[in-house]
Amino acid sequence: QRTPLIAANWKMNGSAALAQQLTVTLATLSLDTTTVVVCPPATLLTRFNTPGNFALGGQTLSHESSGAYTGEISAELLQEAGASYVIVGHSERRMLNFESDELIAAKLKQAVSSGLTPILCVGESLQQRQQEKTQQVIARQLDAVYASQPELLLKSVIAYEPIWAIGTGESATPQQAQATHAFIRQHLAQYDAQAAETVKLLYGGSVNADNCAALFQQADIDGALVGGASLKPAEFAQICLAVT
Ligand code: 13P
Repeated sequence: QRTPLIAANWKMNGSAALAQQLTVTLATLSLDTTTVVVCPPATLLTRFNTPGNFALGGQTLSHESSGAYTGEISAELLQEAGASYVIVGHSERRMLNFESDELIAAKLKQAVSSGLTPILCVGESLQQRQQEKTQQVIARQLDAVYASQPELLLKSVIAYEPIWAIGTGESATPQQAQATHAFIRQHLAQYDAQAAETVKLLYGGSVNADNCAALFQQADIDGALVGGASLKPAEFAQICLAVT
């Protein structure tokens, strides 16, 4: 009963010209039940021709609604620029911007209460995987958000992004990804069994046109969060068409 979702995370890449190209490429696709979300740098949100057949998202947001927060962007500003989704807790922001579990929980709440759909990112480092701490790390990341606010699960999309697979060209195998997705769904069931069944779980980490189909065949993989390959309109379109 879960319809697929493919999200593009441009990170600090792209241009107004690429926004135009991707809009044109996606317009040629009949996406049926698949939801496509493009998350460009915030300055490019208004450079997409909307309404198109895809939605827009931010890459982060402030946990505050407005005020003296130089350099930050609020949920309301993202919405005014056309976003209806927002990525929360990407591993790059957890590491490079020192975002804590607590801050991520506050951001996710802010997103939902403002009407944005959050795409919460979770995932383990290579060292944590080697130490067999994958489930422990992900449980902590999920608990930090949903233990005290389980009602937010119904409004969330969750992306599993193993850090060792991001930008490395080394995707998790379909079996590795499925095992973790099944764990995530099972863990979420303790908060809300029904929401755990309906929540979309995306896989992210070196997804490309060649490896996506095998990932999408897995029972608990409902789509992808695509980095590098989302900067190539033709390849991203192939990924959007591969999911059913
Ligand atoms: P890559 O697809 O470039 O590995 O990036 C994944 C990612 O971090 C998406 O959020």
